[in-house]
Amino acid sequence: MNTVKEQIEALRNELRLHNYNYYVLDNARISDYDFDFRLKTLQDLEAKHPEFFDANSPTQRVGGEITKNFETLVHEHRMYSLDNSYSKEDLEDWETRIKKLVDGDVNYTCELKYDGASISLTYENGKLLKAVTRGDGLQGDNITANIKTIKSVPLQLKGDYPPKFDIRGEIVLPFDGFNKMNEERIEIGEEPYRNPRNTASGSLKLQDSAEVAKRPLECLLYNLTGNTLGVKTQFESLDKARQWGFKVPEAAKLANSIDEVLEFVNYWDVRRHDLPYETDGVVIKVNNLQQQEELGYTAKAPRWAIAYKFKAEQVSTRLNTITYQVGRTGAITPVANLEPVELAGTTVKRASLHNADQIEKLDIREGDEVYVEKGGEIIPKILGVDLSKRSANSEPTIYITQCPECETQLVRQEGEAQHYCLNYNGCNPQIIGRIQHFISRKAMDIDGLGGETVALLVNEGLITNYSDLYELTKEQVVPLERMAEKSAENLINGIKQSKNIPFERVLYALGIRYVGETVAKKLAKHYKGIDAIAVASHEELENVDEIGVKIAESVTAFFESEENVAIVNRLKDFGVQLEMSEEQLVGQTDKLKGDIIVVSGVFHSVTRNVLKKLIEDNGGKVSSSISSKTSYIVAGDNMGPSKKQKAEKLQIALISESEFLQKIK
Ligand code: AMP
Ligand code: ZN
Repeated sequence: MNTVKEQIEALRNELRLHNYNYYVLDNARISDYDFDFRLKTLQDLEAKHPEFFDANSPTQRVGGEITKNFETLVHEHRMYSLDNSYSKEDLEDWETRIKKLVDGDVNYTCELKYDGASISLTYENGKLLKAVTRGDGLQGDNITANIKTIKSVPLQLKGDYPPKFDIRGEIVLPFDGFNKMNEERIEIGEEPYRNPRNTASGSLKLQDSAEVAKRPLECLLYNLTGNTLGVKTQFESLDKARQWGFKVPEAAKLANSIDEVLEFVNYWDVRRHDLPYETDGVVIKVNNLQQQEELGYTAKAPRWAIAYKFKAEQVSTRLNTITYQVGRTGAITPVANLEPVELAGTTVKRASLHNADQIEKLDIREGDEVYVEKGGEIIPKILGVDLSKRSANSEPTIYITQCPECETQLVRQEGEAQHYCLNYNGCNPQIIGRIQHFISRKAMDIDGLGGETVALLVNEGLITNYSDLYELTKEQVVPLERMAEKSAENLINGIKQSKNIPFERVLYALGIRYVGETVAKKLAKHYKGIDAIAVASHEELENVDEIGVKIAESVTAFFESEENVAIVNRLKDFGVQLEMSEEQLVGQTDKLKGDIIVVSGVFHSVTRNVLKKLIEDNGGKVSSSISSKTSYIVAGDNMGPSKKQKAEKLQIALISESEFLQKIK
């Protein structure tokens, strides 16, 4: 029989291998279910045997550590920037300079230049010791807790790695993940993120590492730094890094001349559009490390490397008109309607102008000739105006003051970039958008009813809000465009079926600003029915775990409107689920009734989220901050020192994970 220690080690190794297969090689070898099962087994074992704790165990990737202020660390080896080049001549000049400084043949490693946030990782005896941002090149922020949650960063290396070294790379957010994050943001009425790079670097500075763990970040490595690396060339070092378990893209290639470098550049200038992440050029490095050392550094950059920047594809075209769109939440977006033009393989007709500030900053006017670029952003952007082509009688753009759809005076709240039309229940695009959201798949999932039909129903005056759907008759629907007997029947049937949709999804479907799927679930769990939510005060709402000021304000504002209350009451009368059902309430007790509990630290036998769910299922309240009202704290490992102090000061009891589980047994 294996010892526990051996069992733990075996599970860690197995999970590491699966992580590696999936996140580094993009080649899954195990089902999610089996993976989760093994992870849970390991978590249980580690919980029972804290003596075998390992900060680099695969169980540590879920995050949970909170960093209020990132510690500043000095880089042992400075992180330099790169000089740029833009043409064949620039590269030839660079080669001439190099050849004056070193003897012998020079060849090059060509790599892609990944566009993200740079990072320096330090490994000691094969374990990740720390991860530091570039900062000013001399010192950066210690973001180890956040980096550990990125699955393509190995926590334990394999093979013949040196005892201590640094490795540099770039944290990127691949397009797929970026788009998904934006879909979710748009869904809850938040502004989408502008581009993957800023979102990646912003993610690294989040205080809650569990939040970072949810973001689909990747780490691509490109440089080894250290004293005894056991390699002679850059190309070889990339290969070694791969063997030790790092994700090093395969695109890297050796080139024997500047002409070969240019072949690489020209190839990727086109093919980069097929890559899953952003790149903004190529980095060319002298391959021989001995030669690199002889070449050394200028004040700012290595002499042995140079970046070649791809030209962002850019064209100029005429801006015909500026129009304004009204979104589901009432947000106004100015849109540039362009003379159609070819750009990066597609025809561009429109570009977002974002908001009033952007128009003012660029002084964009109708009739202008504008420069349009398709960079990392998905939507083309306007870079500026060709002033030489502006006509003498052109006038500055005056931003609209009234809603283009309902003529309500627009407002722009302090700190917000966007103007809003607040005519919530009387502005057509808002009405239509809200009903479209109501019927959408993750909400009421109404079969047989699509977005266009909703617009038709509203425009024909058949419905003015989502509760009206439940009064529609087949006879009303049949005469509509593209409807028939059968499809009308399906539509009415679909609406009827939606009365079975559980409360938490109905709550989400109401389209209250900032109440996305997760928040709706939280609120439904906590309050169990719409009536309790409708009367909850700001303060009470904010006391619910993970509900912040913005959400609390938005929820109370929603229920302050008599119109909204009337609509919700109508839904109730029609039999829509506005309370948790008996079934959902099963497994729930009131053992913790009246308790306000704070959860802090890292846990072993259950995850933080399971713990929170257990508290709520047993009638307790989870609170995110310690106050005199806190009943007690369930404390795991590594509870933050400031929290500890606060608990002591207020004399609030700490109980362990197992004591807590005993309580609700
Ligand atoms: P820049 O920020 O334009 O001065 O470019 C330098 C940055 O490019 C470095 O700090 C790295 O973060 C980044 N970079 C991306 N890919 C590579 C690569 N393959 N080799 C070296 N640096 C890279
Ligand atoms: Zn309006």
